[in-house]
Amino acid sequence: MKEFSVEAKLLHTPYNKPDAYHALSMPVYNSAAYEFETAEEMEDAFCGRSPEHVYSRITNPTVQYFEDRVRTITNAFSVTALNSGMAAITNTFMTIARAGGNIVTSSHLFGNTYSFLKFTLADFGVETRFCDLTNPEEVRANIDENTCCLFLEVITNPQMEVANLKQLAAIAHEKQIPLIADTTIVPFTVFKAHDFGVDIEIVSSTKYISGGATGLGGLILDYGSFNWAESTLLPRFSGPFGKGAFTVRLRKEIHRNMGAYMTPQAAYMQTLGLETLTLRFEKQASACLKLAQMLTSVPAIRAVNYTGLESNPCYQISLEQFGPLPGAMLTFDLSSKEACFSFLNKLKLIHLATNLFDNKSLIIHPASTIYGTFTEKQRESMDVKPTTIRLSVGLEPVEDIYNDIVQALKNEK
Ligand SMILES: *Cc1c(COP(=O)(O)O)cnc(C)c1O
Repeated sequence: MKEFSVEAKLLHTPYNKPDAYHALSMPVYNSAAYEFETAEEMEDAFCGRSPEHVYSRITNPTVQYFEDRVRTITNAFSVTALNSGMAAITNTFMTIARAGGNIVTSSHLFGNTYSFLKFTLADFGVETRFCDLTNPEEVRANIDENTCCLFLEVITNPQMEVANLKQLAAIAHEKQIPLIADTTIVPFTVFKAHDFGVDIEIVSSTKYISGGATGLGGLILDYGSFNWAESTLLPRFSGPFGKGAFTVRLRKEIHRNMGAYMTPQAAYMQTLGLETLTLRFEKQASACLKLAQMLTSVPAIRAVNYTGLESNPCYQISLEQFGPLPGAMLTFDLSSKEACFSFLNKLKLIHLATNLFDNKSLIIHPASTIYGTFTEKQRESMDVKPTTIRLSVGLEPVEDIYNDIVQALKNEK
């Protein structure tokens, strides 16, 4: 028999252990601790000789079920669910970085990721080298014997830049460092990051997966593909655990010490979100492409940026990596910051809110909000322009979204 599809696997991932009452949905196990019959069983569990749950900061059955579902559809070696995308990012860097080490990435990053690297990690003696990831020579020149990883976002936001992943993976692996990617912008049901050489994938599950923006969540997917034994990274772990070194350090040390595990309630909601992920993505991303095409002929709009448009400079590489529907987010430019504010204040349907891939369309002016506390110079260095609007396309019919935009631009030239 042929293997079942991703959609079917998503819905039918079995529990690790059957529920006592044969519940069809994974129950929400809102328990901080787990009881043992004997001291011997307790010792085995605490010392990692049995897989029993001991405490919900470390593992929880509901969260583990969510992790199992993600693992089933991605074939990752390990999946770790945390309580936000930022928790996934910080746990990843805490696992891999060390004082005196450096991280090579782009300055085109999610605001808090940039702030974490530039300020927080810098205070712990970790340097971040921001370079142009579309220039392989520059990337190569920035990597040295103290580099811990090459990190990137697969489609940067709001610049919408797409780097060539296979090319960067080749450079990273030649230099014996892992390629780590934040893939939040295109879900793993569509974009198979590991096929393009990504060793560790980070996802803010707040976005597509939660569906309806019911809560925060983050995922770390380790594909077990990086050969730690041949690198100088994770020296305490690469010897005994080989390809599992990252996961073992993350699960046995960093994530326990940081205490940012996903809550069972969030895992329950996100498991539900997973069940409709492919349906919602197809609808929202198709609407996004159609809307991008429609907006290009609106006179007040100076430029539309969506990598699924054939006229986009990243179109070809985006098509190769993500297929014809590279996400449900686009940006467009108006004449000035004032024009952006006036437009936003006239919208009737689209909500002024941050967040991406809610069921509802959401819109934001990134320069004055997500990057509002950065200096103008920092914003310039990150190519965050005062004229740019970011739109996350929801489940509304595309004509409704379009009509709302057009009515709000009526007096703009
Ligand atoms: C939202 C987002 C994050 C942070 O995720 P949270 O769940 O808000 O902590 C990180 N990276 C990208 C690309 C994002 O869009």
